[in-house]
Amino acid sequence: MMGTGRKTGKTGKSGIEERFASRFLAKQEKTSAKYLRRVEELGEMPEALAPFLDTLRRVYVDMALPDALRGKTLIGTYCVMAPQELVYAAGAVPVKLCSGNYTAFSVGDGNAPRDACPLVKAVEGFCETGLMPIYRDCALMAVPITCDCKKKIAGMLAARSRVFPLQVPAGRDDGDITQYVEELYRFAGILEDVTGSEISWETLASGMRQVGRAQYELSRFLAWKKARHGLMWGTHILAVMHAASYLPADVWASSMRRLNDELEAKGEGSGRPASRKRPRLMITGSPVIFPNIKVPLLIEELGGILAADETCMGERGMSDPAVVVDESFDGMMRALANRAVRPCSCPTFADNTERIYRIRQMVRDYDVQGVVYHVLRGCLVYDFEYQLVEEVLGEMGIPVIRLESDYNEEDVEQLKIRLEAFIELIKFRA
Ligand code: SF4
Ligand code: SF4
Repeated sequence: MMGTGRKTGKTGKSGIEERFASRFLAKQEKTSAKYLRRVEELGEMPEALAPFLDTLRRVYVDMALPDALRGKTLIGTYCVMAPQELVYAAGAVPVKLCSGNYTAFSVGDGNAPRDACPLVKAVEGFCETGLMPIYRDCALMAVPITCDCKKKIAGMLAARSRVFPLQVPAGRDDGDITQYVEELYRFAGILEDVTGSEISWETLASGMRQVGRAQYELSRFLAWKKARHGLMWGTHILAVMHAASYLPADVWASSMRRLNDELEAKGEGSGRPASRKRPRLMITGSPVIFPNIKVPLLIEELGGILAADETCMGERGMSDPAVVVDESFDGMMRALANRAVRPCSCPTFADNTERIYRIRQMVRDYDVQGVVYHVLRGCLVYDFEYQLVEEVLGEMGIPVIRLESDYNEEDVEQLKIRLEAFIELIKFRA
């Protein structure tokens, strides 16, 4: 593997490194642009979708920071369990850096063990090349110690960046919450050290308000989505949620407000994807992260509609608000720990009845007719739970298909054949 970090004396990069960098950039831009084009080609785009797509284009095609992040102290986070509110309280902006990038994956593939999941290989690839500003410019990386892959990537990243390994509990009882509150105090201390700003009651309350505004707009959107099935293409909603990784919460909330207002003004307008009576599918399993959106795109290109997204890049990551019972500083920290741990349906928890409850709920809320269980190669924690999810869905009479995939396009034809057959099966049952 040809890294770009090695320099030749005082003259900077060697010719070989420059050629590697330009090939890497060209390849990654081409793939990201192609996926964005396919998202747009689905059609029926609300006008207010544009800023979300622009954000993804800016980060992945232009390979530049969105304007809203310029001049800010950026904190990279690798899990929805790292509370964004604390980062805002320290005067910084969180960016979610779990990656779905094929080109970076092909670089990381050379450094990480063969059976590591592609998500961490792609993260490793970006950090190794140093070619992606949003990774390069982070003052700190907060990495949850959840699965083995995240644990090891924390160690690999520490060779190049300042890393805070966030010790996430494996259970959800009161003792686990107390342990996580202590961990959040440690995180707060590191954030203060990195930013030079003190986290006070006032700044934490302000951080919570900022995230709360984004959650409010998301709750408005979800209320629409539940009431009017097929409101938008699921792949378009996915782009909205993924753009949140690269925007300050208040900027994302403003764009979300415009989208909600547009949908509200349209009312029961015709031409919505649902009007075509497409089979309604839900995706669950390993994270689906732009530009690795081949499965959701295929679902909709092949005649279905992605009615619900249970992955942690979907609504799961943002919909649960922190409920403050005790208004002291400690009470707010406890509220953040409770929100991060108790409702989280991530399979890195030993007992994950929470996920089963959530899947049942989402199947009912979104009138789901079939479930796509997405497993990234090497992602054992999600694969472990497949059998249980299959049993529960079987009791509900909902068919499920397990699709294993990697960060490349070699498996697209096989995915296509299996998804086509699954969609036909659902049509036949309807
Ligand atoms: S899958 Fe679990 S550990 Fe991974 S980012 Fe999502 S919530 Fe965090
Ligand atoms: S939960 Fe799965 S996808 Fe996420 S880092 Fe761990 S192995 Fe990779």
